[in-house]
Amino acid sequence: MVETTNQIVRFGEIQDMVKAYYPDADLDLIRGAYVYSARVHQGQTRMSGEPYLSHPVAVAGILAQMKLDEASVATGLLHDTVEDTLATTDELERFFGSEIANLVDGVTKISKIPFQSKEERQAENFRKMILAMSRDIRVLLVKLADRLHNMRTLQHMPRESQIRISRETMEIYAPLAARLGIYWLRTDLEELAFRHLEPERFAYIEKRLEDSLQERQVYVNTVLSIVRERMEKENIKAIIKGRNKDIHSIHKKMLNQHLEFDQVHDLTAFRIILDSVSDCYTVLGLIHSLWKPVPGRFKDYLAMPKSNGYQSLHTTVIGPEGHRIEIQIRTHEMDLIAEEGIAAHWSYKEGKSVDDEDAKVVNWLRQMMEWQQELEDPREFLENVRVDLYPDEVYVFTPKGDLKEFPKGSTPLDFAYSIHSEVGHSCVGARVNGKMVSLKHELVTGDTVEIVTSVHQRPSKDWLKHVKTGRARTKIRHYIMALEKEKAIAMGRESVERELKKWRLDIARVEKDGELLRIAQEFNFRTETELYASIGYGRQSAKVLVTRLIPLHEREKVKIENFEEKQIKEAPPPSKSGVRVQGLSDVMVHFAKCCNPLPGDMIRGFITRGRGVTIHEADCPNLTESDDKRIVDASWDEKQAHDRMVKLVIHSVNRPGMLATISSVFTSNDSDIIQANVSVINDREARGFFVIKVRNVDHLTRIMHSLKRVKGVENVERLGMA
Ligand code: MN
Repeated sequence: MVETTNQIVRFGEIQDMVKAYYPDADLDLIRGAYVYSARVHQGQTRMSGEPYLSHPVAVAGILAQMKLDEASVATGLLHDTVEDTLATTDELERFFGSEIANLVDGVTKISKIPFQSKEERQAENFRKMILAMSRDIRVLLVKLADRLHNMRTLQHMPRESQIRISRETMEIYAPLAARLGIYWLRTDLEELAFRHLEPERFAYIEKRLEDSLQERQVYVNTVLSIVRERMEKENIKAIIKGRNKDIHSIHKKMLNQHLEFDQVHDLTAFRIILDSVSDCYTVLGLIHSLWKPVPGRFKDYLAMPKSNGYQSLHTTVIGPEGHRIEIQIRTHEMDLIAEEGIAAHWSYKEGKSVDDEDAKVVNWLRQMMEWQQELEDPREFLENVRVDLYPDEVYVFTPKGDLKEFPKGSTPLDFAYSIHSEVGHSCVGARVNGKMVSLKHELVTGDTVEIVTSVHQRPSKDWLKHVKTGRARTKIRHYIMALEKEKAIAMGRESVERELKKWRLDIARVEKDGELLRIAQEFNFRTETELYASIGYGRQSAKVLVTRLIPLHEREKVKIENFEEKQIKEAPPPSKSGVRVQGLSDVMVHFAKCCNPLPGDMIRGFITRGRGVTIHEADCPNLTESDDKRIVDASWDEKQAHDRMVKLVIHSVNRPGMLATISSVFTSNDSDIIQANVSVINDREARGFFVIKVRNVDHLTRIMHSLKRVKGVENVERLGMA
C-alpha cells in the first residue's frame, strides 16, 4: 500500500474527525473497512489516474464531515467494492456484519438503476424510487456523498459523461438533497452540475461576480457594520453573516425574472444568528426600523414552522442605496438544522434510543415526500431507522428504461394494462429481468418488465384476482361484460329470427325496414341490438316482441298459409307414387299396409303427423274409423303410375306340378313373382302365398281370373301387405 501513502494520511484525518465528534466510535470498524477496500480496489485507477481508493476515502471524508455514525463512514469506504471488485455482499457480512453489508447492498442497488433523463414527472418517480429503495436513510446519504465526490472530479470524464451525469445530478440528486434538507449539499451539487451543463453561462456569471466583488464587499460591509452597531447598542449577542448567492441560483433568478446581471441586486443574503427566540423578534423589529420592509416578503416560520420543522424569520428590506436585501433571522439550533437537514438528526448523539423515534421519522419522511414544493429542513429525530418510505408502492422499468409506479402486489397484467388495453387483453406473461414469469407474478421495485402477448389470448374472469390497479380491473371487467353482451345479442337475435320465421318473415328484411328499431324504441331501447341483448339475457321474450311486430289479422292469415305450406313442405322431393292429394301431385305419400291400394282402386288420404299422407282404399275400415278432419281426397295419377306389389293367397289341391302351373300363369300374364311360399296343409290341400308385381287393379283382376281357371285351384284372395 505504498502508493496509497497520501490516502493513509487522509484516512487518518477521517479517523480523527470521527473521534472528535464521537469519542467512543468503533474505529476498528472504520479501519477494517479501509484496509479491505484498499485490498480489493488495488490496481484500479480512476479516470484522473489516481488510485481508485482515493474515491471511497473521499466519500467517507464527506460523511465524516456530516458527522455521521461509523457505520455510514465505513459504508462510504466500502460502497463500490461489491459493484466494482470481486467482493461480495456475503463476504462483507462475514467481515463487517449484516448492518454494513445491507448498507453497501443498498448503495449498489441504487447505482444499478438505469436512469433516464426525461420529463419532470419521470424525474420525480426516480427520486421516489431511490427513496423507496433506500430503506435506511444512510444508504441515501452515502449515495449523495458518492455523487458529490464524483461531481467534484467530473472534469476527468469524457464530455458526454459529464453531461449525462450532470443532468442526473440536477434532476435526481440535488432535489433529493433538498428533500432531506441538506442545503449545502444541494447547492454544491447544483453548482457543479450547472458548471458542466452550461460552462459558458457559468463562466460569465462567475466572472461578473469576481469583477463586482470589491464593490459588493464594500456594500456588504456597510450593511454588516450598520447591523452590528445596532446590535451592540441593544446589547444583543449575534453572529451576522453575509453570504454570496451561488451561481446557479443567480442564473435561475436572471432566467425567471428576465434580468441582466446588473439588475440582480440581492447577490448577497444576510443571516443573523441569535441565542434565543425572543432575540429573533427583537432583531426583526430593529431591522425594520433601520430599513423599510418590502410588503409581502415577511415570513414567520418561527411561530409557524414548516411542516418539516424548518424555523426562521425571513424578510426583505430596502437597504442602503435603495437595494433590496434578504435577511434571515434564527437561533443557532435552527441554523444547524437548516444547514444540515436530515443529517443533523442523523449525526451521532450519545445515549439516544433508536426505536422511540421510528414512528415519528416515518411520518415525517412521508410528509416530506408528499410535499410538492421544495423542502428546506427537517427537525427533531432520526436515528438508526429502517424505514419503508413507500410500503404500498413498487417502481419498475419498461424495457426502454421508463419508470412506472404501481401499487404493491401488482402483476404483469397491471403493467400491460398501463401500456394499452389491447396489450393487457393479449398479455400471456412477462419477462422480468429477462426471466419469463406468469401473469400472477408480483412485481418488485427495480424490476425491468417486458410484456409478452399473444393474439390468441383473451381476458378471463379470474384475471381480476391478479390485478391491483383500478385501470386493469376496469378494463378486464369491460371486456368480460362486452363479451357476455355479444353472446346475449347473438342469442337474442337468433330467438327473434326463429320467431319471425314462424310468420314467414326474414329478420334481415325486417331490420332493414326499420320495423325492429321501431319496436325496440317502443320497449325503451335505443337500438334493436340493445333489444336483442335484453332478449339474450332473458329479460324480454322474443315471442312478445314478434306479437307486437305483426298485426293480428296478418298472423291469422299466415297461420292458415302455414298449415297448407307445411303439408307441402313436409313432402320429400316430388313423389313418383302416382297419387294426387287434393289435386297436388308432389305430396309425400305412403300406401297403407292394411289395404295396400292399387292403381284403379278408389282411394283416400289420411294426414299423418310428420309423415305426409297415407293412402288407403276409400272404404278401408282403418280409414273410416279415423278422425275425418284429417282425411283428404286422393286420386291416382295414371301417367305417373308404376308397378306395385300385391300379396295373394291361393288355396289348391295338393298335387305334383301345382306350383309350376301357378307360376306359369303369372309369367303368361306378364307379372313378376317376388316371393313364393307354398305349404302343405294335409294330404289333399295346399296353400301358397305369393308376392307379385302388377300394374293396376285390372291387371290383377286378369291374373286372378286366370288363376281361378287352373284345375285344382279352389280360391284366390288379395291380401294386405301387413
Ligand atoms: Mn462511488
